[in-house]
Amino acid sequence: MYESTRGNLSGQIASQAIALGMVPSGGLFVPSNFPALNWQDLQGLNYRDVAKRVMIPYLPDFSEETLSEIVNVYADGTFDGPNPAPLVPVGSFGVLELWHGPTAAFKDMALQVLPDLLNVSLKQLEYDTEVLILVATSGDTGKAALEGFKNRAGMHIVVFYPEGGVSPVQERQMTTTEGANTHVVAVKGNFDQCQTAVKHIFASETLKAELQEKQLIFSSANSINWGRLLPQIVYYFWAYLQAVEQGKVAPGGSMNVVVPTGNFGNLLAAYYAKRMGLPIGRIISASNQNNVLADFFATGVYQSKRAFYQTISPSMDILISSNFERFLYEMSGRDAEGIQTWYDSSNQGTFTVDPDTLKQCQDTVYAGWANEEETLEIISRSYKTYQYVFDPHTAVAMKVYEDYLSTTNDQTYTVIASTASPFKFATNVLKGLEEQKSAKDEWEALNRLSQLTGWKIPLGLQGLESKTAKSVDTCEPEEIAELLQKMFT
Ligand SMILES: *Cc1c(COP(=O)(O)O)cnc(C)c1O
Repeated sequence: MYESTRGNLSGQIASQAIALGMVPSGGLFVPSNFPALNWQDLQGLNYRDVAKRVMIPYLPDFSEETLSEIVNVYADGTFDGPNPAPLVPVGSFGVLELWHGPTAAFKDMALQVLPDLLNVSLKQLEYDTEVLILVATSGDTGKAALEGFKNRAGMHIVVFYPEGGVSPVQERQMTTTEGANTHVVAVKGNFDQCQTAVKHIFASETLKAELQEKQLIFSSANSINWGRLLPQIVYYFWAYLQAVEQGKVAPGGSMNVVVPTGNFGNLLAAYYAKRMGLPIGRIISASNQNNVLADFFATGVYQSKRAFYQTISPSMDILISSNFERFLYEMSGRDAEGIQTWYDSSNQGTFTVDPDTLKQCQDTVYAGWANEEETLEIISRSYKTYQYVFDPHTAVAMKVYEDYLSTTNDQTYTVIASTASPFKFATNVLKGLEEQKSAKDEWEALNRLSQLTGWKIPLGLQGLESKTAKSVDTCEPEEIAELLQKMFT
């Protein structure tokens, strides 16, 4: 069963949590308990079957057969090889490459199964409506969601991205998506403004009623949706199984993970895996210059009212980290009243937690951040040392891992979650690698990066410059509701 982080709803089945996306009166769905799963029982299974075993206890209202079909996407050629999430040994640590899906970012790991999870959920609930998926994106979710939902019967998707706030490759990936049911909108504002505007839409009773007349209901493909988080738990089990198989971790020994963090979904999935019994030691949170989380872990004060920086790791340019609420729910001993108070809209994203909750947070997570210069420097140095190229997001993680090592000298085997292919951010990666020489444009940068490293350009990023782009609507954050009315009512 699922309950709300704010104590305003409980006893909901998985289908309901997935169909609704978030709790209509505010709050996020969380599982009421974490089923135990022994990693040893998963040894020898392929990714698809591990996915099934991890997900099934959370989806009692799904038949085993249905779930088998859903997770088949990990084995049917959608990902670029037989292992959708290889653990690559680099130096004395491991890199969990989560970007082998169709859009070359880790969002594919979940967004390739979310449409099916949602579809089945709606059937289960006997909704005879169509769904309108709204997505706010800092770059990668947009394309991964468009790719997952395109051409799906009964589903429409609108993606909102900050105008000028995503990389040229990310923008081009989104605007060249096929499918009559896919729409892309550039919002004049930053990601937080996009995300906040979309959250308001979800809460708008007027718009909801108008759409209902057209047999349409809203849902979300952002990581506030439980159906996004659940498939992400899987790859931490998968990482552990590989680390044991590679002889890096003794069976039952503990493994640390480093997660480049934005909306906190990826990190939360690691924490949930730990709660299920996976021997995860320290979870290390890495932020870019938008270091609101690193500050929180140091002080217990969440202060989202601060300067917003556009960085070379745009998918982490986030000050209002949505899933952090779920994490605080656990860290506070499920204190729904506390969450209610902290997240009260009158606080405008600024609050201070109690000392016990802060202590829990600090015991569970080590948090750090890297600035732009450090990020570029580590891309260059890692390539020289290991002949391994990090994308800027993963490079942030690598830098924070180095800081962690020098602070703690913790020798536990550590896995860095690599969230994007370096080709998605080729210009900035080249800047890191070659320093002065810059490519004429992003497309030349892709080729040059490929020549330099001998790595292949991911299939989904090839030929992007010559594809036909669809027209993009542009609007102010306040105009989103109006735009949706025009499009759908
Ligand atoms: C989305 C994203 C992140 C942040 O992940 P969260 O789950 O939002 O914390 C980090 N890196 C890349 C490349 C991403 O696309």
